[in-house]
Amino acid sequence: MACAACTGSAENEVISIRMRIAEEEITFRRCARCEVNVWEAGEGRISLEEVLDLARVSR
Ligand SMILES: [Zn+2]
Repeated sequence: MACAACTGSAENEVISIRMRIAEEEITFRRCARCEVNVWEAGEGRISLEEVLDLARVSR
């Protein structure tokens, strides 16, 4: 998995965490090189606000 913002792609550079929020499979990726945080759902990249909306719905 490569970083979306820089050229970082090594395993120790890009941390990837998968989780399930509501009925969505969400992947959180954080790049240690450029410190970019990315949230991804099935359809692609989503914003943190969308993640929070999903979390709100699931409650
Ligand atoms: Zn990066």
